[in-house]
Amino acid sequence: MQFDFLIIGGGVVGMAVAYGLLRRGQKVIMLDEGDDVLRASRGNAGLTWVQGKGIGMPRYAELSLQSSDAWPFFASELSERSGVPLEYSRQGGIDICFDVQEAEARVASYRKLQASSPYLARYFQWEYFDRQGLLTHLPGLGESIHGGTWSPHDGHCNPLLLLHALLTASLKMGLSYHPGCSVQRLESNIVGFTANTLGGNFSAERIIVAAGLGAKHLSPCWA
Ligand SMILES: Cc1cc2nc3c(=O)[nH]c(=O)nc-3n(C[C@H](O)[C@H](O)[C@H](O)COP(=O)(O)OP(=O)(O)OC[C@H]3O[C@@H](n4cnc5c(N)ncnc54)[C@H](O)[C@@H]3O)c2cc1C
Repeated sequence: MQFDFLIIGGGVVGMAVAYGLLRRGQKVIMLDEGDDVLRASRGNAGLTWVQGKGIGMPRYAELSLQSSDAWPFFASELSERSGVPLEYSRQGGIDICFDVQEAEARVASYRKLQASSPYLARYFQWEYFDRQGLLTHLPGLGESIHGGTWSPHDGHCNPLLLLHALLTASLKMGLSYHPGCSVQRLESNIVGFTANTLGGNFSAERIIVAAGLGAKHLSPCWA
C-alpha cells in the first residue's frame, strides 16, 4: 500500500481530484484509458458558467457560483505550477432567448432560484436585456434574437489546456500516472481496493472512481 488514493479515470474530474490531493501531500496513483479515447473532458466547450446551472436544485446553483468565484485563483495557481496558460477569462456571459416565451421562462426560473436560496438571492447577479440592450454588447446580432440574460460570473477556459495543465502540475507533484491502462474490475478487500487491468493489479487504501460514463461498469463490482 504505497499510495493513499487510487483514482480511476484521468478526465477533468479525476485530474482535478488528483491535483487537490497532491497539493495536500497525498500519494496518488491514476489509471486512465489514455489520451486518444474520445471523452467529454477532451470535447467540451470549456465554459465556467453559472447561468443555467441548478434550476430546480439550488445547492447545485450555489456550488456553481462558489466554483466560479474560486476559478480565478485556481487558474492562476495552476498555470503557475504547471507553466501552462489556461486561456481563462471571466468577462461575463450572455445566454440568448429566441422569443418572448423563452425570455419570460428564463427570468421566472432565475427569480424562483433566488427565492429558494438566501445565498443566491444575495450573490447571484444577472440581468435581462431586451434586443436593443443586447445590441450594445453584441453588435450585429441576428434578427431572430429576442433578448438574453447576462451574468458577470460566467467565464471560459481552454479545456484541453486545462487537462494538460492539471496533468503537468500533478506529475510535478509526484502523481503516478498510468495511461493506456483500462480497469477491467475493481475489488474491495480488508485493507482497501484493488483494480485489475490487463497490465497487472494496482492497490490503495482509498479509491475514487472518476471514470465518467465508464463508472457504471466499474462501481457495481463491489455492490
Ligand atoms: C459536448 C459537451 C460540452 C460540454 N461543455 C461543458 C462546458 O462548457 N463546461 C463544463 O463545465 N462542462 C461541460 N461539459 C461537461 C463536462 O465535459 C463533463 O462533465 C466532464 O468532462 C466530465 O469529466 P469526467 O472526468 O467525469 O469524465 P470523462 O471526461 O468521461 O473522463 C473519464 C475518464 O475515465 C477514463 N475511463 C473510463 N473508464 C475507464 C476504465 N475502465 N479504466 C480506466 N480509465 C477509464 C476515460 O478514458 C476518461 O479519460 C460538456 C460535455 C459535453 C459532452
